[in-house]
Amino acid sequence: MCIFCKIIDRKLEAAWVYETTSIAVFADACPSAPGHVLVIPKRHVEKVTDLTELEAQELYRVVFLVQKAMVDVWQIPGQNLQINSGAIAGQEVMHAHIHVIPRKKARSGEAPIFVPLETRVLAVKGLKDYFDHLLEKSN
Ligand code: AMP
Ligand code: ZN
Repeated sequence: MCIFCKIIDRKLEAAWVYETTSIAVFADACPSAPGHVLVIPKRHVEKVTDLTELEAQELYRVVFLVQKAMVDVWQIPGQNLQINSGAIAGQEVMHAHIHVIPRKKARSGEAPIFVPLETRVLAVKGLKDYFDHLLEKSN
């Protein structure tokens, strides 16, 4: 089972932010900036191009919700979206995903390093609260 499938199955811990029936959102373990999250389909496919058109739409819908939430919660001036599709493009985890990277200041140019789970949980707390609140209202 791949590392992201283990996270989806709760066999491996992650700093969860939000989930729908088909999509999961959690913090990246080596963030390019604090608050860097991954938006992934729960169905295991290697690359985003292996998704159906409908699944790709749903994936981007959640990316968009995450972007809007980041702007609302953190008032950030910018973001990067990144999709590494295929090993040749630098994809390391072969379960499709989209990176959403908040930019509060210009990129440092430093290589991302591993950040412990507790630090990741803290980094995305505001974002998680935002989605929890949204879900509460819709239930
Ligand atoms: P990519 O190069 O697009 O395949 O990026 C994979 C991303 O997954 C990297 O940014 C890693 O830091 C991240 N990653 C790998 N393992 C984990 C994990 N267990 N929890 C959260 N993020 C992870
Ligand atoms: Zn997987």
